Amino acid sequence: MSEVQQPAQREAEIGSRLAELEQRLEAACSASGRARDDVTLVVVTKFFPAADVRILTRAGVGDIGENRDQEAKAKLAEVRDDPGGAPVPRMHFIGQIQTNKAASVASYADVVHSVDRVKLARSLDNGARRHDRMLDVLLQVDLRDPAQAHDDDAFGRGGVLPDELDELASVVEGLENLRLAGLMSVAPLGEDPAEAFGRLARLREPFVAAHPGATWLSAGMSGDLEAGVAAGATHVRVGSAILGPRPAHG
Ligand SMILES: *Cc1c(COP(=O)(O)O)cnc(C)c1O
Repeated sequence: MSEVQQPAQREAEIGSRLAELEQRLEAACSASGRARDDVTLVVVTKFFPAADVRILTRAGVGDIGENRDQEAKAKLAEVRDDPGGAPVPRMHFIGQIQTNKAASVASYADVVHSVDRVKLARSLDNGARRHDRMLDVLLQVDLRDPAQAHDDDAFGRGGVLPDELDELASVVEGLENLRLAGLMSVAPLGEDPAEAFGRLARLREPFVAAHPGATWLSAGMSGDLEAGVAAGATHVRVGSAILGPRPAHG
């Protein structure tokens, strides 16, 4: 943020953006004939301070998303220490995870949206076991044309290719401290999100038939949450529409 805001001002700003987003989400649900309760709003707080997380939780947000291990861990610790006793949100880890950070992520995340390889799944499971925790995990699907995949990961648009999904799912199902909860994806840059999420919805049908517990679908961000909801998203990950432009990168 370019200028320092007073806390009350920030609270009012976030409150009104949150109310606008809520209207958008309700409209998207009703346009798709879906109940608003079927969709969890995950507010992506990356790059924003713990003070913003407290404002959000006091406003009733129960789910926040982060994409960097150190930042997420420190912020959650700060929120937990709140003398005002703001409720502690569920932490959704939504970013790419280096294998050597997996044990750390497993120590505090409740849901990991970005599982895209066997080695990462095993490391998360080991970490979760060490901390005596269960993690809900989503497999991140790479919706790009396979010819272009893996050469444009700047925005963390990684993921498992659709034809490798089943193998990864079976591995996760065999791991004791992970629960296979569903799928996640990011619409590829430059593609109509409705088309991309349409492909995701078609992939998801046989996937859920084969893995009946894995009904979650994390799809849709500030720019394309309507397309996500129309494709059956149970979780949307919204940052800038609620918190404003991020202070740097990301
Ligand atoms: C940053 C991020 C979001 C939120 O993006 P906005 O456009 O700010 O809503 C959602 N999903 C992932 C994976 C992200 O990295």
